[in-house]
Amino acid sequence: MRADVLRETLHRIGNAAAAAGRPAPRLLAVAKTQPATAVAELAAAGQRAFGENYVQEAAAKRAALAGLDLEWHLIGHLQSNKARDAAALFDWVQTVDRPKLVPALARHRDPARPLNVLIQVNIDDEASKHGCRPEEVPALAAAVAAAPSLRLRGLMAIPAPHPQPERRRDAFRRMRALFDALREAHPRADTLSMGMSDDYALAIAEGATMVRIGTALFGPRRRREPGAGDPAP
Ligand SMILES: *Cc1c(COP(=O)(O)O)cnc(C)c1O
Repeated sequence: MRADVLRETLHRIGNAAAAAGRPAPRLLAVAKTQPATAVAELAAAGQRAFGENYVQEAAAKRAALAGLDLEWHLIGHLQSNKARDAAALFDWVQTVDRPKLVPALARHRDPARPLNVLIQVNIDDEASKHGCRPEEVPALAAAVAAAPSLRLRGLMAIPAPHPQPERRRDAFRRMRALFDALREAHPRADTLSMGMSDDYALAIAEGATMVRIGTALFGPRRRREPGAGDPAP
């Protein structure tokens, strides 16, 4: 039962946080490739925040679940030409990683309902990964903070999938240091989004305030239906 899996996952998150002497982070349920019915089951069990990687896939699910009070987070790469749709559809965008996206999102959002924004950092400096360089965070954060229709909430990262947990721990630790520095300039930034199904306990130990979990909640990802959404990144 999905409700049991959710309860068990929240329990593990709580234990990891208690072991680290930290408050429990928020759980973002990553629903990419999963049907709206699976989202509805988790929502019925009390889960409210859901992550999607593709704008069109999220639009379809959000429309199918319009009666539910859910919070939708974009966690996939955002192309500039999708910024308008993303600004209208999501409650959070976790993947702002270049200056151009800031006005593109801000323009299409009502300042009465600001869009929550995380800056995505390419913390392991991987050529294949999206995300800004750590040294680019202050300027990008200042740009987001200056836009009345955006609300700077913090940072997000997807560290390299290094098989040695210690190497990932180091990336989480560097993200925590960046987050602490960000908070000196922007004290209202409250979110450090890091940790996925196979490493969330480590991320929590290093200070994650939000973990993004897909397969551990939903099981293996479904194959994407042709034409169902945006091209894969
Ligand atoms: C898919 C995805 C996740 C969830 O990954 P799992 O290993 O299935 O938990 C988290 N964050 C991002 C950015 C993702 O694309």
